[in-house]
Amino acid sequence: MSGSGARRGKAFVISAPSGTGKTTICHKLLAQDPQLRFSVSHTTRPPRPTETSGIDYHFVDEAEFERLIASGSFLEHARYTGNLYGTSYAAVESSLDDGIDVLLEIEVQGAKLVRDARFEAVFIFLLPPSLDELDVRLRGRGTDDDAVIRKRLAEARSELSMAEVFDYAVVNDDLDTAVEQVQQIIRAERSDETDEVKARYGREGVVAEWRKGAEKG
Ligand code: ADP
Ligand code: 5GP
Repeated sequence: MSGSGARRGKAFVISAPSGTGKTTICHKLLAQDPQLRFSVSHTTRPPRPTETSGIDYHFVDEAEFERLIASGSFLEHARYTGNLYGTSYAAVESSLDDGIDVLLEIEVQGAKLVRDARFEAVFIFLLPPSLDELDVRLRGRGTDDDAVIRKRLAEARSELSMAEVFDYAVVNDDLDTAVEQVQQIIRAERSDETDEVKARYGREGVVAEWRKGAEKG
């Protein structure tokens, strides 16, 4: 779908401290919504056994990543726990031009760069029920060794202090509930009827409530 008068897609940025459940939630959103396409990022991190190049990420070495930076290919890029991650313009623009909504699953600095670039997007922050539960999920995932988990938990604390970048926040306690809440936000943003979701999931209120109880971990 393209041409004059055709709807341009919307970009949805989903971000959260590592281990909160972004990937899990994004997979569910994409499986249930043909109007939503994943923005495949580039990374210098080695692939995990479950990951496929070109689907989960474009896996590249540092030299190739640097070349892409130099050629202006990235909307945003950031270094996160030792590896480079970036969203190319190619990953988002063709879908948006086709009228398809795009999901960017990126860490918090990257979300801030997208916001600072004034790229039009809806910014959704996911919160773990608590920092203790985040630790449990990172260990339960079984993909990172103890040193990486420590780095990711340290990063999580600073990411939580950058929540003001986001329009909405959802707590990923029960998975299906969190998926449904993000879907409500996406539906409302598509139809431009956002009063109710802003009242329910507006970032300021959700984060203030979360801090009262959950940051103790
Ligand atoms: P992220 O992409 O934010 O780093 P993942 O999606 O990899 O996080 O999730 C981290 C771990 O937590 C995974 O093992 C996942 O199965 C688990 N997880 C995700 N959401 C929930 C939830 N609501 N309750 C319990 N475990 C969850
Ligand atoms: P992981 O190594 O667990 O796949 O990802 C680590 C972090 O990098 C996650 O928070 C993930 O969302 C983020 N990430 C993935 N792709 C990008 C990207 O293109 N840009 C940025 N800034 N972060 C990304």
